Amino acid sequence: MQQLGFDGMPTRLFSCTPSRLASYSDCPRRYRMTYLDRPTPPRGAPWAHNSLGASVHNALRAWWDLPRDRRTAAAAVGLLRSGWITDGYRDREQSEATRVRASRWVEEYVAELDPDDEPIGLERTVATRTDTLAVSGRIDRLDDRDGELVVVDYKTGRSELSTDDTRGSQALALYAVAAGRTLRRPCHTVELHHLPTGTVHAFTHTEESLARHLRRAEGTAADIVAATGRLAAGATQDEAFPPAPSTRCGWCDFRRHCPEGRAASAEKEPWVSVAVAEGQEPAGHARTSSSTASSARTHG
Ligand code: SF4
Repeated sequence: MQQLGFDGMPTRLFSCTPSRLASYSDCPRRYRMTYLDRPTPPRGAPWAHNSLGASVHNALRAWWDLPRDRRTAAAAVGLLRSGWITDGYRDREQSEATRVRASRWVEEYVAELDPDDEPIGLERTVATRTDTLAVSGRIDRLDDRDGELVVVDYKTGRSELSTDDTRGSQALALYAVAAGRTLRRPCHTVELHHLPTGTVHAFTHTEESLARHLRRAEGTAADIVAATGRLAAGATQDEAFPPAPSTRCGWCDFRRHCPEGRAASAEKEPWVSVAVAEGQEPAGHARTSSSTASSARTHG
C-alpha cells in the first residue's frame, strides 16, 4: 500500500493488525516466523484454550444474530454446545468438563444482557491510517450507547483482569480510533468482558491517551520496517529479528524451532490452561452488570 509523501514521492504505509504489532513487541523472532518466513515453520499442536475462546466468541456472536424472541440464555448454551471446538484437549472427558464450565459462564453472561439491544457491529472489521501506518482489526462487539461507540472485547482466559489491562491494551485503543474514524462517531470507551469471572473492565480514553497509543504503534511499525530493511541488506535473521526468550516461551507456537525459547521455558501440554478442577472458578466470580462497568470506568 502506498500514498504520496509531501515531496510527491510514494511513501509505503505499513499495513498491520494490532496483534502483528504485539507479536513484534513480544519477540522479534516470533514475528519473523509468523509473518515473514515462507513457508511458515510448522507450529505446535493446537491449544485447548484457543478452542475454548473461539467457541465462546462464536456462540456469543451467533446469539446476537438470533431473532429478538430467541435470544435466551438457554439458546446461548445451545449455540455453545453445537459449535464446540474440541481441538487441543487431553481427551473427551476434559473437553466436556470445560464445555459445561463455559456453558455456565455464557448462561450467566447472557442473562445480564438486554436482548432488545442491537450492537452496531459483531466481529466488525474497522481500519484507519496515519502517515506511516495502515491498521485494521476485527472487534468482537461494537455498541452504540447514547450516541457513543463502545468497543467490547470478550476474554475467556483463567487470569483475572483489571482496569489496567483495559487501559494498557494497545489493541483496544487502536480499535477505538479505527471504529471512530470508520463510522465517524465518537469512540473513547473500551471494555474487556471476562466471562469466567463475569466482570467488565472498562476504560474511557481521552484524545491524548488514544494519540499516545497510536504514536507507540507507529514506533513499533517503524522498528519492524527498519528490521526488515536490515534483513534485506544482508543482516542475519537473528541480527535483524533477535529472540526475546522468557517464561512466556512455553506458550509460543514456534518453540520447537527456537533453542533459546526452549531453554527459557518448560514445555506445556496443549490443555494446561483449561486443566482446572471441575467447579473451581477463578476467585471473585460476579455477574456482569452495568454498575460493574460504570464503577470500573475511569478517565485518563
Ligand atoms: S520460543 Fe520465545 S524466544 Fe523463541 S520465538 Fe518463541 S517467543 Fe521468541
